[in-house]
Amino acid sequence: MPHTTSALQVPSAGAPFVATTIERRDLRDDDVLIDIAYAGICHSDIHTARDEWGPAHYPIVVGHEIAGTVAAVGSTVTRVKVGDRVGVGCLVDSCGECESCKDGQEMFCTKGAVGTYNAKGYDGEWTGGGYSQQVVVSERFTLRIPEGIGLDEAAPLLCAGITTYSPLKRWGAGPGRRVAVVGVGGLGHMAVKLAHAMGAEVTTISRSMDKAEDAEALGAVRHIATSDAAAMKDARRTFDLIVNTVSADLDMNDYLRLLRPNGVLCNVGLPPSELSVAPFNLIGGNKVLTGSNIGGIEQTQEMLDFCAEHGIGATVEVLDATETTAVDDAWNRVVKGDVRYRVVIDTSTITP
Ligand code: NAP
Ligand code: ZN
Repeated sequence: MPHTTSALQVPSAGAPFVATTIERRDLRDDDVLIDIAYAGICHSDIHTARDEWGPAHYPIVVGHEIAGTVAAVGSTVTRVKVGDRVGVGCLVDSCGECESCKDGQEMFCTKGAVGTYNAKGYDGEWTGGGYSQQVVVSERFTLRIPEGIGLDEAAPLLCAGITTYSPLKRWGAGPGRRVAVVGVGGLGHMAVKLAHAMGAEVTTISRSMDKAEDAEALGAVRHIATSDAAAMKDARRTFDLIVNTVSADLDMNDYLRLLRPNGVLCNVGLPPSELSVAPFNLIGGNKVLTGSNIGGIEQTQEMLDFCAEHGIGATVEVLDATETTAVDDAWNRVVKGDVRYRVVIDTSTITP
């Protein structure tokens, strides 16, 4: 029997939320039924449900920052048991056999990784995400949330955490390295906490000085407002690595100038427009302009364990979703950059 569960649905592009019930599939042998406690609001949810990345499949239930507890398991599940604290991120399936899957990079699966929402599963059914009270996911895509991280502050780690951890690791954030984080939002604030815990010297770059004090508390030694042209000029040639988390278009040239020779500008923000760059800004200084897409399952577990070891969780605002308009309002606040620093929906309050 499929499981009927409460969820927040977006009926069409840009429409307000509706609280309703949806069906989750009957448990397969390798499936885990999760009682969702919290679902983080990622800017990608908004890009998707406003068709900013192309037409989405409606009605849609978004959410790929999921934390909760195991309610039931299929007959062959061994890695988790009923009652365990678990999370689900951006992926719920991949072929498991291609080079990328074997290499722990399921997001690049040659058959096509299946996203947690707005994706067609290998069974032909559309997936639905975490703004909901229950979800069914194969155990391969279920992460263990270590003791010591509250489920509310753990939920955003499943996307914002791994998406920033992965490029920080890849590009060597650590002692003696100067890292700048552009955009202090959901991803950005995690990037600051993680880079600081890795031992790097962190600077935050934001539109204004409003988040300067918070940035210091998160682990930054310096905060620069892009509105301050003199400060941006002073910062030229100072960073080894810049992680750009901004959800809107930025001029890459402005940030390439802030890199030291051989420095790396890594984009994780995903605005819809194309990037443009003057070749001289790359070639003068052997600079690397790159991007990074979430992270594989093994690395996601590594990130969760790293967070537990370093006492890191997301800084969250817990949202009561009894009135669906509260979630609409939260989305508008995310777009304005007015959230400190991730809203997580208390899914027990979803009331159809
Ligand atoms: P968020 O919480 O809204 O943070 C984005 C930040 O960007 C804001 O806090 C703001 O920082 C800055 N910003 C917003 N509008 C701006 C504008 N017009 N000009 C300059 N700066 C602006 O979003 P998020 O959830 O962290 O997601 C950030 C981006 O990453 C989104 O595009 C999302 O889709 C993408 N993403 C990518 C991946 C991946 O795998 N690569 C994974 C998840 C999300 P300040 O207030 O500090 O200026
Ligand atoms: Zn996300």
